[in-house]
Amino acid sequence: MRTILSILVVLLQFPVGKTMAQQTWKNGKQCVVCLTYDDAMDSQLDYAIPQLDSHGLKGTFYLTGTSASLYHRMEEWKAIAANGHELGNHTLFHPCSGKRFSDRERERDIDFYTIKQFLTEVRTANTLLKGLDGKNRHTFAYTCGDKVVEGENMGDYLPELVVAARGGDPAFLPKNELNLFHLPTFSSTGKTGDKLIDLVKQAQQKNSLLILVFHGVGGGHLLVEAEEHKKLLDYLKEHEKDIWVAPVIELADYLIAESDRKGKM
Ligand SMILES: [Zn+2]
Repeated sequence: MRTILSILVVLLQFPVGKTMAQQTWKNGKQCVVCLTYDDAMDSQLDYAIPQLDSHGLKGTFYLTGTSASLYHRMEEWKAIAANGHELGNHTLFHPCSGKRFSDRERERDIDFYTIKQFLTEVRTANTLLKGLDGKNRHTFAYTCGDKVVEGENMGDYLPELVVAARGGDPAFLPKNELNLFHLPTFSSTGKTGDKLIDLVKQAQQKNSLLILVFHGVGGGHLLVEAEEHKKLLDYLKEHEKDIWVAPVIELADYLIAESDRKGKM
């Protein structure tokens, strides 16, 4: 009897055949979609945010300290935070590897950074964000997806400064394989609304997480056309019963709470 009981306990702890297709998200939803926007661009204020607001959806805006839009339209960036959009950390100077960008100035080439310099920059960007949204906790997006400084992966250092980091390779992973500091990310650049909706449908089928990264919406670099962005939002709104659209910090808090709960079980 005791043997049978212990087998049952093991089975309950490790449900046999539990696949990603069976996992659910907040309130039993099929999947979670995070809409993220990088570099603090005017076109996000002009097109992306009004569209999100008219659909009642919240996004995550990864701001860079050097953004001209942030300087000239600071009150608008503050207002979107007050309205429930997330402001995230995308460094002050947007350092990227000069290996891929040959015109990169040495000062903004992450290959010439020290770890201490990188972390000081992220910490100072947190100060800037706190001035905008009054919050103590922020998520992070790797600039150009670059994570290595002085040969070390910054994902190992970031937990002291931020709640989570976006910029892992694009993949539909089961929850238990998600790393909060390498959250998988899919590029939206140049995609049509239909292509973006295809990605959402894959996330629905796989009961997975989909983080999309946008830059220019309706204008600016790495463009997605405004009407294509709207098509995606229309789909998300129509399927809000099944799809959880969340800022990255809400996703991170949900994953943290879930792993805490499992730890206590
Ligand atoms: Zn960027």
